[in-house]
Amino acid sequence: MTTRPIARKLHIKGIVQGVGFRPFIYQLARRHQLAGRVANTSSGVTVHVEGAPLAIETFCREVMIRKPMPARITDITGYDADYEGLPEFTISPSQQKTNRSTLVSPDIATCDDCLKEMFDAHDRRFHYPFINCTNCGPRYTIIDDIPYDRPSTSMKHFTMCEACRTEYEDPANRRFHAQPNACPACGPRVSLHDKAGRRMDENDPVADAVRLLKAGQIVAIKGLGGFHLAADATNSEALQKLRQRKRREEKPFALMSQSLTQIGQYAILTPEEQVLLASPVRPIVLARKREPNPIANEVSPKNRYFGVMLPYTPLHHLIMSAGFTALVMTSGNRSEEPISIDNDDAISRLAGIADAFLMNNREIYLRSDDSIVFHAAGDRRLIRRSRGFIPAPVFLKNKVPQILACGGELKNTICLTKGDHAFLSQHIGDMENARTLDFFHLTVAHMKRILDISPVAIAFDMHPDYMSSQYASAQTDVAQIPVQHHHAHVVSCMAENHLDGEVIGLSFDGTGYGTDGCIWGGEVMIATHGAFDRAAHLSYVPMPGGSAAIKEPWRMAAAYLMDAYGDDFADNGLTVFDDLPENTTNLIAKMISQGVNSPLTSSLGRLFDGVAAITGIRKHVRFEGQAAMALEMATADNDRPLPPSETYPYLLPPDGKGSIPVHPLISGVVRDMLERVSVPEISTRFHWTIIYLFADLCRQLREKNGLHRVVLSGGVFQNAILLKGLTLMLAQQGFSVYTHKIVPSNDGGLSLGQAVAAAAIIKTHSA
Ligand SMILES: [Zn+2]
Ligand SMILES: [Zn+2]
Ligand SMILES: [Zn+2]
Repeated sequence: MTTRPIARKLHIKGIVQGVGFRPFIYQLARRHQLAGRVANTSSGVTVHVEGAPLAIETFCREVMIRKPMPARITDITGYDADYEGLPEFTISPSQQKTNRSTLVSPDIATCDDCLKEMFDAHDRRFHYPFINCTNCGPRYTIIDDIPYDRPSTSMKHFTMCEACRTEYEDPANRRFHAQPNACPACGPRVSLHDKAGRRMDENDPVADAVRLLKAGQIVAIKGLGGFHLAADATNSEALQKLRQRKRREEKPFALMSQSLTQIGQYAILTPEEQVLLASPVRPIVLARKREPNPIANEVSPKNRYFGVMLPYTPLHHLIMSAGFTALVMTSGNRSEEPISIDNDDAISRLAGIADAFLMNNREIYLRSDDSIVFHAAGDRRLIRRSRGFIPAPVFLKNKVPQILACGGELKNTICLTKGDHAFLSQHIGDMENARTLDFFHLTVAHMKRILDISPVAIAFDMHPDYMSSQYASAQTDVAQIPVQHHHAHVVSCMAENHLDGEVIGLSFDGTGYGTDGCIWGGEVMIATHGAFDRAAHLSYVPMPGGSAAIKEPWRMAAAYLMDAYGDDFADNGLTVFDDLPENTTNLIAKMISQGVNSPLTSSLGRLFDGVAAITGIRKHVRFEGQAAMALEMATADNDRPLPPSETYPYLLPPDGKGSIPVHPLISGVVRDMLERVSVPEISTRFHWTIIYLFADLCRQLREKNGLHRVVLSGGVFQNAILLKGLTLMLAQQGFSVYTHKIVPSNDGGLSLGQAVAAAAIIKTHSA
C-alpha cells in the first residue's frame, strides 16, 4: 500500500541545545528515510519532517524515547505542515526569535567515549585536556547569550582546524555541532606558571604540575567553573601550609580521586553514594571515613565524613591518572570571597597561597562552585546546588509571573521565575564583601539575559541589613515583596514538592529576621504560599554580645544556663566557663539582665551551639554551624531511634501554640554532665528529645486543625539524625512528611521560597 507523503512540524522545548539534540534528530530522520530540517531557535528546537505517515509517526514517538542522555524535553507540540517535497534531511542554521525560552544545559562531566580517545596514544586528541563532544563538556560556564552556538560562547576565540570542522559539520559524527569542539591544533591550551605568573612549563605543563604536586606544592588549577587549589591529600605538611596560607583552620577540604575503588581506600561508600559520585553532575559527596585511612588528618579534622568527588574534566582525568590516592581540591579563593575564574585575577588573588598555576586560555564566563550532596533518609540531599545542576530549572506546579528573588545572606543564591520554571543560580556565597556583591550583580544580569526574563516583582528577605535586601529596596521600578525568612524556607520545600494549601512547616535554622524584630530559627508555622501563622517557637533567650554569640557558643551556654538557673548559673559545677577570664560570667549576666547588646533568639541552631558548649564539645567556632555539626558527630554511632523514655523532659505549650520552654532540656543535659554521663550519650539524648518534642507538637496541631502534611526546611535539616528521626517519627504517626531533595534545605534554597511566596502575594493582591 502506498500512502501520499505528508509533512509535520514539531516544536520541542526543554534542555535541547548543546546536548547533541540536532544530530540525534538528523540521524533519526535519516534512519526512517524522512526528509526535512531541524533548527535551534531561541525557544527550543523546531523540526520539519516529510515522508510516509507511518514513518513520521514512529519518528515522533522515538524523539521522546531515544533522546540523548543529557537532554530533557519539557514540552513538545506537533502540527500538520505543508509538504514541500524536500530532497533530504538537513540541519538549518540557528534562527533568532523574540521568544527566548530555550533551556541551557548544565556543564556535563567528560563522557566515556572522550576518555577512551584521550588515553589512546594513536588518537589525535591523545592527552588533550579540552576533549569534549555533544554528550559532554562545558556549557553554562562558557555561554554568554542564547541561542547556544559557538559565537555565543568563550570558544568563539578559537577557529576550528580542518579536522575539527569536518567532525563539526558531519551529522554522523558524535562531535556534530559540539560547540566547544577543539583539538591540540586549534583549541585552548594549558600552561604552567610560577607564583609570579611567569611561564615555567617545558613541553608538558600537566606532567610538570603533577611533579610539583608530588613534591608537596600547592597548585592552583583552572577547572570548569573556576580555580581549585590542589595539594596531595596524603601530605600533611602540604596541607598545613595550605590551611595556614588560606587562613582556613578547620573547615573540611574536598577530595578528588580517580575512581570509586580509590575512594574506597579511605571512605566507606554505600551503593547510593556510588551512584551520586558517578552521576554526570559529579558532585562532592559526603562519605563516611574509613578508619584507619591514608588521608592526612588535616583534610577533615574532627569530622566523620570526607567530601569526595570523581574527576569531571579531561584535565582532572589526566592529573589523577598520575597515581595520587587523592588530591585536595578546594575552592581557589581567599577566605570567603568568590572563587577566581580569570587567569590574571587568580595570580593576584591567590598570590601567597599557590606555588604555581596550571591555567588555560579558555575563558570562564560564569563561575560555578562544585555542588555538594549527601545521602540521608532515603534520598539525595543537596548542601550546595551549583555546577552540573545550574541552570536546569525547578519545575513548579503552577505558572507564576516573572520574579527575581534575591535570597538571604549566607550561602546565597538568586532565583528567577518564568512560566512554571524556577531557575536558581549557582552558589553565590556569603554576601559579606564587595566581591561577592559584584558576583551577585553579575549573576542577576547574566541569568536575566540567557533566560530572557524581565521581572515584574522582586522578592527579598525582611532583614533590613542584608546586602541582598538593600539591593532589592533600590529597585524601585518593580513591585517589592519582602518575605519572612522561615516562611521562605517552608515555601521553598512546598514548591519543590508541588504542595499548595495549608501545611505545618518546621523551619529550623541558625538565624533569620522575624516579624517582631527578634532572631527566629526554631519555628513551627501553619503556612500557605502567601501567608503564615507562627504557631509555636522555641522560647526566646538572649544572645549576649549579638553576633559574637554565634562565633563563641560559650556565650549561648551562659544564656541557656541563666534561663534555666537564674543569675548564679555559673556556680553549678560545670567546666564550660573555666578557661575564661575571671568575672566574665558576671559580666555576661549583667549584660543579659540589662538587655545590653543581647538580641532575643528562638533559634534551634543556637540551642545546638549552647548544648555543644555545655558538653565541652565546642566553645568557639571557626565557621557558622561548626558547633552544631560537632554535636551531631558526637552522637553515639548507631542508627537506632532512642526510646521516648530515654529523652530529656520537655514541656509543650497548650494546643501546640506559643512558646516552647527550653529550660527542662537544658537542666537534663546539665544533670547528665554532672553525673558524668558520656558525651555521645548526652548528644544522642538531646537529638531525640528535639525529635519527640516536635513530633508531639505536630500531633497537637493536627488535633486542633486537622493538618496532616508536615514540611521540613531550614539549615538545621542538614543534620542527618534530625532529618531521619523526624521523618520517621512523623510518618509513624500518620503524617505525610515533605523534605528537600532538589534544592538545599539551607539558605541556598531560600530564593526559591521567596519567589513562590511573592507569586502568591501578587495573586492575592490582584484578585
Ligand atoms: Zn564526550
Ligand atoms: Zn582542531
Ligand atoms: Zn535560613
